[in-house]
Amino acid sequence: MKTDWEMCNTVLLDMDGTLLDLSFDNYFWHEYVPLNFAKQNDIDIEVAKSQLTPLFKEMEGTIEWYCLDYWTKELNLDISGLKIEISEKISILPHAVEFLFKLKQSTKKILMVTNAHRESLYLKLEKTKIDLYFDEIISSHDYGVPKENLLFWSRLQQEYCFDLDKTILFDDSLAVLDTAKNFGIKHLIHLCKPDSTLPAKSSLKFNYITDFSELMNVL
Ligand SMILES: [Mg+2]
Repeated sequence: MKTDWEMCNTVLLDMDGTLLDLSFDNYFWHEYVPLNFAKQNDIDIEVAKSQLTPLFKEMEGTIEWYCLDYWTKELNLDISGLKIEISEKISILPHAVEFLFKLKQSTKKILMVTNAHRESLYLKLEKTKIDLYFDEIISSHDYGVPKENLLFWSRLQQEYCFDLDKTILFDDSLAVLDTAKNFGIKHLIHLCKPDSTLPAKSSLKFNYITDFSELMNVL
């Protein structure tokens, strides 16, 4: 880990589930949206959940899945407004700020690469102020393709000219890590506890950490 870290001059960090607690998004999509969908359509919450689950499943991994405008139209609910209503639940994962603070003191270039829609991104940055630690913040919506698509990575590289052998990516999504690996990014770390309320889920495919305290000794 230490040698990997020292070799890298560019650090790519995902936001949700890597720096911010995914419990917010899980609660929002699995509980709060169904609750409001049920109210709006005058149906039981369990019926709402059974109607929404296949809709969500179908869009997984596409840019629409991350697009608030898409879901606002599709469900006829004010998705941004609903997020604001429960925005006090947005929180930073343990040790993420300490890590960013130390990282900022290094000479490495620090880029956030997120699938979050700009509206959701702004709300989360306003609540957490983690944008202070980044040189650039890139939303995959700017490129029109999510991080699960190779095109995202080629557009990112065109714009920021990072060296594949000297770049490290931290992400909680195995699908994203797989794509980044296929693109050729050499150093990949899986965040295996994206939701603080759920158990860690490690994978044998990638090096993993439970939280950023495990990196403090290499910084
Ligand atoms: Mg994530």
